[in-house]
Amino acid sequence: MRYRVNPDLKLDLNRFGVKEDWQDCFHCGNCTAVCSLTEENILFPRRIIRNVQLGFKNKLVTDVDPWLCYYCGECSETCPREANPGELMMSFRRWLTIKYDWTGIARLFYKSLPAFLIAMIVVAIGIIVIGITKDFKAEAMMEFGHKFEKYVIYAVACLILLPNLLRMFWFVILKNKLKVPVFAYISNSLSLFVNLFTQKNYLKCEGDTFRWVEHLLIVIGYLGLLVITVFFNWFNTDSETVKWIGYIVGALVFIFTFDFVLKRSSKKRESSKFSHPSDWMFVVWLFLLGLTAFITRILVDAGAIENNLWVYFIHLIVIAQWGLLIVPFGKWTHFLYRAFAIYFSNLKQAALMK
Ligand code: SF4
Ligand code: SF4
Repeated sequence: MRYRVNPDLKLDLNRFGVKEDWQDCFHCGNCTAVCSLTEENILFPRRIIRNVQLGFKNKLVTDVDPWLCYYCGECSETCPREANPGELMMSFRRWLTIKYDWTGIARLFYKSLPAFLIAMIVVAIGIIVIGITKDFKAEAMMEFGHKFEKYVIYAVACLILLPNLLRMFWFVILKNKLKVPVFAYISNSLSLFVNLFTQKNYLKCEGDTFRWVEHLLIVIGYLGLLVITVFFNWFNTDSETVKWIGYIVGALVFIFTFDFVLKRSSKKRESSKFSHPSDWMFVVWLFLLGLTAFITRILVDAGAIENNLWVYFIHLIVIAQWGLLIVPFGKWTHFLYRAFAIYFSNLKQAALMK
């Protein structure tokens, strides 16, 4: 395949949080040498920096390697030119996200913070209007909230996430004209789910086991909270088992995301030195989601929800902004694309070995 040089690529990338320092790279290859995740056929981040410098936009959009990086920051720490290769990979993942998104909304939100904030306000106003139509009664609001969550999950999965994954597949496999053996699709599907839920490749990054455990507990907490509220109606259940599981998963979410917020604020780790607004939105909203759900259930148990409905109301606004804006168009998608990138990368290897 022939690739065209695009001189505007550098300018385009700058809008996704990339720091200009990456242009100081003189291709010593140190970053690739220290990265625990590079393999014989998968060499990054230097190769990606080279392709960005050359402006190979069409080639880069078919590349899944940026998703294989877990931003441990080791490459940035050891770069003799302080070119921040780890941050370039992170910014590049944001750029790829907007390439996969068929709606163009992710592009708008990544490039314009005011547009994103206006969308957040519109969603909050929508929930307030619904509250007015329900006379701010706890039972009616909770019934609405329960149905709303369920329909948003189905709608976002079918209308946004699935088409975007198909676009990713088109870029990575079909556009590269790879002939993947049918068996490879099946044999790699188990590892797709393992990577989706455990992000186990992160363990290859030396000395970062605690961060991986934190990630895993957040994923367990988040998915557990989703299942328990959407399918077991946690806020209205009388089942003691469901109630206590809900408390545990809710606590996992807000305790560990609070730790992430602290780490990002301290900027001590290489991976939290630079934060795009989408990084902040992700951790803060996840924290609020877990905390407001937890307090709501405490109020239900104490029989005090009717007089403190504002807590559930905030929870509903957070859920709506999370489900309608952050999950389909924000950093949440990275969780999905990373697992599929590993899957597509395995398919690519299978096609090349054929
Ligand atoms: S980013 Fe830094 S370590 Fe990597 S090749 Fe460039 S100069 Fe070397
Ligand atoms: S941040 Fe870590 S995983 Fe990512 S390219 Fe650098 S060394 Fe590799």
